[in-house]
Amino acid sequence: MPSEFDLIARHFTRASPGARLGVGDDAALLAPSPGMEIAISTDMLLAGRHFLPDADAEGLGYKTLAVNLSDLAAMGARPRWALLAVALPEADEDWLAAFSHGFFALAGEHGVELVGGDTTRGPLTLCVSILGEVAPGQALTRAGARPGDAVWVSGELGGAALGLAHLRGESRLAEAEAAACVERLEQPTPRIALGQALLGIASAAIDVSDGLLADLGHILERSGVGAELRFDRLPAHPALLTRLPDPLARRCLLAGGDDYELCFTAPSERADDVLAAGRAAGVPVTRIGRIVAGPGLVLRGADGAPITFEARGYDHFAAG
Ligand code: ADP
Ligand code: MG
Repeated sequence: MPSEFDLIARHFTRASPGARLGVGDDAALLAPSPGMEIAISTDMLLAGRHFLPDADAEGLGYKTLAVNLSDLAAMGARPRWALLAVALPEADEDWLAAFSHGFFALAGEHGVELVGGDTTRGPLTLCVSILGEVAPGQALTRAGARPGDAVWVSGELGGAALGLAHLRGESRLAEAEAAACVERLEQPTPRIALGQALLGIASAAIDVSDGLLADLGHILERSGVGAELRFDRLPAHPALLTRLPDPLARRCLLAGGDDYELCFTAPSERADDVLAAGRAAGVPVTRIGRIVAGPGLVLRGADGAPITFEARGYDHFAAG
């Protein structure tokens, strides 16, 4: 039976030249680039709640880091370091090797170094803390949206939620569509380059983890504004396009979680800069509405008539 220390040494210890001291001591030592602010965030994934208990280990390693990177993307921060706390029912070396392979593959893409963590026995739980850098006062927050700003979203929405519906047997998809949607669910792309490209352009930003309406709602609340969205302009995942009259498809588009796109606002005269940021980052960005002074969120159809929609995003406590 390998010891906890064998497991850490074999699966979670890599060179970390960007840290003064990495894995192996009581704490890591980090020196941020001169003059930069640290953005730090943590996210937990529990088997049975955030992923299916039999989820592929390598995919899980990727996704555990991806959801954390997405939070840094939403702040416009450059990722630098991560900490990883793992509770495992047993010391399954094959599982750990696959998990760390997925984790380090994505970490490598973004120059993230794993500098510490904790490893313990228990129900499968994964918790990553991530640290990044951003120029002082430049970070994108949820609080900066102003009336007249345009509302934008990156990429396509609803694919991940449709993938989950497919895995649960709630939706019947063609094989290629199913594969594309499940990939959106299991391998989300954190919009790191876009977040940084939007610094100095966007007025507020959030990553879409709980659904567009819920996450934009957080911007509205923190900014003390309202919004009007155009349903017909929402960039639906291609697998949703032909299904949109269907309530499940609409729920995926408006309230489906796990897409990890960025929803952000920017002064309307910065539209060209936003489009250029999207091109530079290699991800499409779509203008979906505008910020208004009044509170609340109004969704309108192409004819301008309001569309009522009940379901909001996922709330761990409300949903039980
Ligand atoms: P302590 O007893 O001081 O908490 P641990 O024995 O838990 O230390 O961990 C030993 C070293 O290994 C520490 O540097 C810790 O940060 C690191 N570590 C433990 N688990 C992980 C992990 N899953 N990923 C990365 N580093 C880890
Ligand atoms: Mg410990």
